[in-house]
Amino acid sequence: MPPTKGGSRAMLRALRAALAGAGDGQQRLDTVVRLVASNMVAEVCSIYLKRDEATLELCATQGLSPDAVHTARLRIGQGLVGRIAERAEPIATDDAQNTPGFRYLPETKEERYQSFVGVPVQRLGEMMGVLVVQNETARIYEDDDIEALEVVAMIIAEMTESGAFFGSEGLAAGPGRRQGPLRVGGKAASEGIAEGVVHLHEPRLVVFDPIAEDTATERERLDAALQALRGDVDRMVEETGGGRGTEQRDIFEAYRMVAYDKGWTRRLYEAIESGLSAEVAIEKVQSDVRARMERIADPYLRERLHDLDDLAHRLLRRVANGHGEDGSIPEDAILVARSLGPGELMEHAGRIKGVVLEEGSLNSHAAIVARALTLPMVVQADRVTRDANPGDRMVVDGNGGRVHLRPDPAVLEHFQGQIEQAAQALEVFRSLVDRPATTRDGTTIALKMNAGVLADLPSLQHSGAQGVGLYRTELQFMIRQKMPRRESQAGLYKRVMDAAGDAEVIFRTLDIGSDKVLPYMRREREANPALGWRAIRVGLDRPHLLAMQIQALIRAAEGRPLSLMFPMISTADEFYRARDLVHREIERRVGFGDARPRRLQIGMMFEVPALISESDRMFAEADFISVGGNDLLQFFFAADRENEKVRPRYDVLTPSFLRFLEQIIARCAEQDTRLSFCGEAAGRPLEAIALAALGFRDLSMRAAAIGPVKQALIEADLSQVREMIAAHQEAGHRDIRAAIAEMLGARLVREPGLSISLGQTP
Ligand code: PEP
Ligand code: MG
Repeated sequence: MPPTKGGSRAMLRALRAALAGAGDGQQRLDTVVRLVASNMVAEVCSIYLKRDEATLELCATQGLSPDAVHTARLRIGQGLVGRIAERAEPIATDDAQNTPGFRYLPETKEERYQSFVGVPVQRLGEMMGVLVVQNETARIYEDDDIEALEVVAMIIAEMTESGAFFGSEGLAAGPGRRQGPLRVGGKAASEGIAEGVVHLHEPRLVVFDPIAEDTATERERLDAALQALRGDVDRMVEETGGGRGTEQRDIFEAYRMVAYDKGWTRRLYEAIESGLSAEVAIEKVQSDVRARMERIADPYLRERLHDLDDLAHRLLRRVANGHGEDGSIPEDAILVARSLGPGELMEHAGRIKGVVLEEGSLNSHAAIVARALTLPMVVQADRVTRDANPGDRMVVDGNGGRVHLRPDPAVLEHFQGQIEQAAQALEVFRSLVDRPATTRDGTTIALKMNAGVLADLPSLQHSGAQGVGLYRTELQFMIRQKMPRRESQAGLYKRVMDAAGDAEVIFRTLDIGSDKVLPYMRREREANPALGWRAIRVGLDRPHLLAMQIQALIRAAEGRPLSLMFPMISTADEFYRARDLVHREIERRVGFGDARPRRLQIGMMFEVPALISESDRMFAEADFISVGGNDLLQFFFAADRENEKVRPRYDVLTPSFLRFLEQIIARCAEQDTRLSFCGEAAGRPLEAIALAALGFRDLSMRAAAIGPVKQALIEADLSQVREMIAAHQEAGHRDIRAAIAEMLGARLVREPGLSISLGQTP
């Protein structure tokens, strides 16, 4: 008798009872196939699980040759079983041999079976295997049959996830999900090596009891969780305030639509009716939605998939109510996430040793924050959130751009050796702290640090930095839930100035927009946010925001010298307007009794190429100019700094870009304007030497780069490098990087990223 909804529940109940008595992993699998075959009145039931990314392995069967278990294998996409795994869709036929894709596996001796139905075993979109039922005679499998199999497939997925099938001898040699050493390739986003244990940013839920004991209880649990979830979502919508049309509000409105969606809710309750626990019911519905959405090409709709995913996660966490994995951060944690904003990363500062992201890019602000915090970071680490278990040992190789999960002892020893060497190199750099960065041919370069988080302050003393060349004020705004008030801003700036003592700190006014998002500020959706409403454009359109920050800086200075600069100035007029606002605020504050800064320096970032054609007046009136190489490179080559498909094609050490930098140097020299370079390139020894050779005398970088850059500069002969660059420019050679590296005897790593290592650079 084919199972009805109630039948599938009876089948699960029987499965629950049988599994309670089953012994090891293999016996559990055998129990499942035996029970499904008898409940479905079928001659055959088989479970295939993924052995590796490309292969499925027959792991249990009732009806096929027992000798085929753990020997019969199929490639994903091959045969009916392989197709189910590839497309994540069920296949049902009453004429298997003549169904496209059919492939005969001789070891299984299956040619006698005419009818075939198979469903994917998957969990939250991750393909894990295939569950198959076969009948000797022609049989049309009904929707209810498929539904019942899908329910059992969910149970198999949950049990695979929780490791319930491991432990038997056969399976030890069989599919080894999340066990054993694994090397994951990625990109180096912040150098250094860290060894520690995995902490998943989004804890993965492990369901140890996937079959409901009592359907009514599961219904009640789902009721309560849904109610709480709807309350959360309603609150989120309300908190985004009135006006419609903001991006955040759109997202929350979309959440609300799903949370109240009748179809979604009905499917959840139906999944519970079929005998699943509330957790697995949510996962089942979510898997279906994902499978459908994955096939949608429209990027907007696909983005909604993330929203739906997030909502299902929230519901799961609600229903699990603390029964999932412990979210607390272990000691020596390596933070592993799909993607991460700079604010979220800062929240973890001081508690983690390294970061690994499945997505992310080298010039994102999360990467900049990781570098500021000297946290080794690898981005674009494929599937890492799926392959890593919480608590697994992990090595983050932020130099090579790789991650070693559950490394074997030899690999671990190798990296521990490297960590020790890096510590020794650090000692060498420490010994240089009080030495000026004077090159072999006698030019001294001022080395300053970029800062923006409180964790940076101790480095002001320890790194040998001659001041702060770029203080990214927005970072503090990004980790708050609310806009920091003037007093709290002033308190923070005062701490920075106190820590710097007599050294200059250049405060950059708020540089928000693009990937720097303030959670509490409403923003319109922009097609090209990097070219959009950001930085000084926001400051000039929202003058009260800029004014509040200037007031806080004046107050913090308490009469001491004050230096500030504006981000992303595109026209001289923007600079004049922002500068006028500063002067106005100073007069106003002095009128209220605040002390006038003893010396005021107002400068600008050079990030937009258009400035090269600005008037002499602008160059003359700016007290200083700081080249923001990160944005300048992105705008110069029209290549998104966040997009790893295009970013690596364009190198700072390219004749055209270096020529452009020479033009900036020349325009500043004509007007005697103080000039510095504060993009990421300043912190890479090879680039720093090239910048110094071009004429930059003031470089600002993350604190940890000061030692390696200083050492490289001390060993360099700038006039030689200058000549070599000129010769290459003359000859039209592109590969200046290789030539400088060869000249300096450096170990060359081709990626124009962070991996240039000169001798003892850690
Ligand atoms: C730059 O663009 O080079 C820069 C220093 O600013 P940010 O990286 O914060 O955009
Ligand atoms: Mg910038």
